[in-house]
Amino acid sequence: MTDFQRPWHKYYPPEVPVEMEYDQRPLQDYLRDTAQAYGGKKALYFMGKELSYKEVYDQSLAVASYLQQLGVEKGDRVSIMLPNCPQSVVAYYGVLLAGGIVVQTNPLYMERELEYQMKDSGAKVIICLDILYPKAANVKPETDLEHIIVTGIKDYLPFPKNKIYPFIQKRQYQVLVKPEQSTDTHLWTHLLKESTREVKPVDVDPLEDLALLQYTGGTTGFPKGVMLTHYNLIVNTQMAKKWLYKCRDGEERVLAILPFFHVYGMTSVMNLSVMMGNKMILMPKFDAEAVLKVIEKQRPTLFPGAPTIYIALLNHPNLKKYDLSSIEACISGSAPLPVEVQEQFEKITGGRLVEGYGLTETSPTTHSNLIWGHRISGSIGIPWPDTDSKIFRMDADEEADYGEIGEIVVKGPQVMKGYWNRPEETAQVLSEDGWFRTGDMGYMNEDGYFYIVDRKKDMIIAGGYNIYPREVEEVLYEHSEVQEAVVVGVPDPYRGETVKAFIVRKQDSDITEDELNEFCRKHMAAFKVPRLYEFRDELPKTAVGKILRRQLVEEEKAKYEES
Ligand code: AMP
Repeated sequence: MTDFQRPWHKYYPPEVPVEMEYDQRPLQDYLRDTAQAYGGKKALYFMGKELSYKEVYDQSLAVASYLQQLGVEKGDRVSIMLPNCPQSVVAYYGVLLAGGIVVQTNPLYMERELEYQMKDSGAKVIICLDILYPKAANVKPETDLEHIIVTGIKDYLPFPKNKIYPFIQKRQYQVLVKPEQSTDTHLWTHLLKESTREVKPVDVDPLEDLALLQYTGGTTGFPKGVMLTHYNLIVNTQMAKKWLYKCRDGEERVLAILPFFHVYGMTSVMNLSVMMGNKMILMPKFDAEAVLKVIEKQRPTLFPGAPTIYIALLNHPNLKKYDLSSIEACISGSAPLPVEVQEQFEKITGGRLVEGYGLTETSPTTHSNLIWGHRISGSIGIPWPDTDSKIFRMDADEEADYGEIGEIVVKGPQVMKGYWNRPEETAQVLSEDGWFRTGDMGYMNEDGYFYIVDRKKDMIIAGGYNIYPREVEEVLYEHSEVQEAVVVGVPDPYRGETVKAFIVRKQDSDITEDELNEFCRKHMAAFKVPRLYEFRDELPKTAVGKILRRQLVEEEKAKYEES
């Protein structure tokens, strides 16, 4: 033991050490080991179909060897643009086995967003859902993409005629992709059939080599690729396993509603399940009733989620019809968890629901309440093993007193290597001695419990999705009748926040909310489109003409509190 002692350590139960030993090996080794240890055990359940760990490993090898045949070499980026489905697990491990770096791409992206991410990451191959094929094909000539691998839900679920599964749109089901039999488009079914599964070994340095480029806005501006190493992801997964110390390897069933294209679902559901040999119950899309049904039938024991998910379930009119008693432990992250929701959910399930905290830049988890120990509702909890955290006074590197509000900073082995190709932006948030500035405002009490009170950064979190105002503003500015636009998050009882645009029209313009809305829908993923618009003659500005975004945020907050 070293002198690493902090006030929160007194709450650690004997099962959780303050410092841990971590594996230094490639992340994909866990899939091989689990396939060996639990080969016949089910790795995943997807709308009635199940795949064993042996099958997932075999198919991942197929993807890896196929990618290598296509020319993917160590360090090449491969985008995965899929909702949660068997392919999202197989493709992820396949890319890693080939030596590639996974670039997770939100399947809701429109072409403009996809093109930006492909250009920025320099991805060579994209693995996407069949209905997304036209988007990938359209952006390909503008980017470094050389190959598109296309897969459909039907590759795993040959739908019985006339039966459409609850959350699959008829339209999606019926799309038949018929890419030209060209050399740059490949069908998943062909890949699985033809691949030799012979994978050239790749020499991975887990501490240095990237497993993942995960896009996030960071503190300001456009999405940037967060560079996460194999080690970053492994340590955070091992920490999670320790925090869930009552859970048994090979025994748990995990509800996988958090998308794997976000680092929260990727680590806390996918990587953790693979490390432990747990069964994942995959949900490609959130549909409250479908989730309730699957809980009753598949009886998950673990259910990592976000407040909006728990709120939607609690408010479902048929909630009482379903048996949710299998649920033992849930960690809620990404937004504040209302105490009322925590209490009601625990009452209904008989399990534990605690709040945690993290960011893409930290793989993601840094803080959490204890699941089976001391916890404080309304607090994000205490730092995880080997994770240090402080409050810095605003824009200074000095520590605040207990109870004083400042910026939350963290240091630990889960902190990213930096932003892809952006050394200056990395230096702004990551100090040379490893302290990462989160952009979240909060305080720590004398026992080492942390609280979040606000966000210093501009990012908006609406219904669990991150939205970066700059991206939305750029689109609005492209409209010929918009003179000025500023986008902020305003409080919303259900989505946590919602997107509001303040617009100054050009002279003589009488553009309407509906027209702007239609324009936005064409150019950005639906979750980013402002739900509220306000036209003003002018926007509040500083003496040097910088728009006072913060003032608008405060005005909106005050209005909400009064209402
Ligand atoms: P992401 O990079 O998408 O994981 O988003 C990270 C951001 O989510 C953090 O910087 C916080 O602003 C927010 N966040 C995560 N967990 C919580 C929480 N428990 N309470 C409030 N905000 C949270």
